Amino acid sequence: MAELERAHALIGGDWTESPGPAIPVIDPYHEEMIGEVAESGLDLVDRAVAAATQAQPGWAGRDVDERARLLEGVAVLLDRDRERMAELVGREMGMPVGLARVTQAELPAAVLRTTADLARQFPWSTRIDGAVVHRCPAGVVAAITPWNMPVHQIVAKVAAALAAGCPVVLKPSEQTPFDANALVKLFIEAGCPPGVLNTVTGTGAVTGTALAGHPGLGHVSFTGSVAAGRTVAGLAARTLTRSTLELGGKSPAIILPDADLATAVAGAVAGGLVNSGQACNATTRMLVPAHLIGEVLPLVKDEVENYVLGAPADPATRQGPLASARQRDRVLAYISSAVKAGGTLVTGSAEPSEVSAHGYFVDPAVITGLPENAEAIREEIFGPVIAIQAYSDIDDAVRIANDCDFGLSAEVWSADAEHAQVIAARLHAGQVKINGVRTRDRLAVPFGGMKNSGHGRELGTYGIEEFTELRAVLS
Ligand code: NAD
Repeated sequence: MAELERAHALIGGDWTESPGPAIPVIDPYHEEMIGEVAESGLDLVDRAVAAATQAQPGWAGRDVDERARLLEGVAVLLDRDRERMAELVGREMGMPVGLARVTQAELPAAVLRTTADLARQFPWSTRIDGAVVHRCPAGVVAAITPWNMPVHQIVAKVAAALAAGCPVVLKPSEQTPFDANALVKLFIEAGCPPGVLNTVTGTGAVTGTALAGHPGLGHVSFTGSVAAGRTVAGLAARTLTRSTLELGGKSPAIILPDADLATAVAGAVAGGLVNSGQACNATTRMLVPAHLIGEVLPLVKDEVENYVLGAPADPATRQGPLASARQRDRVLAYISSAVKAGGTLVTGSAEPSEVSAHGYFVDPAVITGLPENAEAIREEIFGPVIAIQAYSDIDDAVRIANDCDFGLSAEVWSADAEHAQVIAARLHAGQVKINGVRTRDRLAVPFGGMKNSGHGRELGTYGIEEFTELRAVLS
């Protein structure tokens, strides 16, 4: 076995041993420990926030162009380390190397560059009714991130916060601490001043809670589950600190009757199964005209059964293992409950996949015929499970799409782009994507949700704005 990795906290430019206890990090393909990370706890959180607070005036006082150049410098280094980063994410959480290269190296590098460009063009000062209204840095930003798209989620927060002039205290997921360590090293190598980017490590319950409730913050930016998001927003509210919450989803892909079915099915399945369905905006509900169900089901079955499951490091792999045994068991329990609720499995199983002797694999599953109140229709499964819902007419499609506690993302597939726009205007979702355009193709477009999907936005100018406060100077 390769040498075990160890992730540390970074405080004011110094790598710092967390006092513990240690948390094992498990490679979900080999089912073996690849390293560990320790709990930073309240004391290190305090020190990290103090270091960021000290660095704040200097960083906020830098020219925007200088801040933007730091981001561009990190992007160049991330290009250099692309393969290493992709491999690391694969070992930590099972993402196939091809997907990891695109989404955990190339995408974050592009986000860094786009954020740098947009920071230079950002309306830092505007004139309104004879006053000058300035966008000022919000203060120290706490960034709390999950394991599923780990590098991208860190960069989406850190790039915008640093561009806005805010130092950051990052707490990455305890399941994926090593990519965070590697990324933070790139910031240091690119010349990030001490204290401008700090990290603390450990669980949400201990270190995350200490960070989210810290009184020294200007903003808390959280990506993760709804339950943790509620806690984080509550902790931040105690000190009246604003928060951004990027939470879960149960996104619909509406296939309109005029859509090219083969293209729409392939696209909607790809959107549903991306990263083994461990994506907040995965299109896990496919809405199909009732009269076309007979035509669509065989297409979906073929498409899904062609997915190659295997080792994350194998370039042929399209779906790796789920990120943890807990995640696999949770997903299998949802499939089992869907069958009990009256659903029919078009493909997939409620038993662990037999594709490999080891690894937390779940065969991708497609379920049809579920009642609208079934758990598998209403709750985020965060696994490779697509539910097919039949609709009678367009109003019914819109009703089903919106009958959901989440509102992160939606897709519309149609041969008539104008009609798709009309449908899009009726959907309760932060992003509506027409005919297969992907979030990662449009990095200046705001990303975030409504309802239980959270509040606030990431990416683009809106993402930078999130980390600013307004100061109006009247004369
Ligand atoms: P999680 O909520 O368990 O953890 C996310 C992060 O929050 C981790 O760093 C964790 O340690 C920390 N955390 C947990 N409880 C906390 C608490 N009480 N106080 C402070 N920090 C706490 O989520 P996860 O399992 O890591 O990620 C999966 C979830 O993230 C899914 O629900 C998914 O939909 C969501 N997600 C949302 C987006 C988005 O942009 N909307 C993107 C990716 C993932």
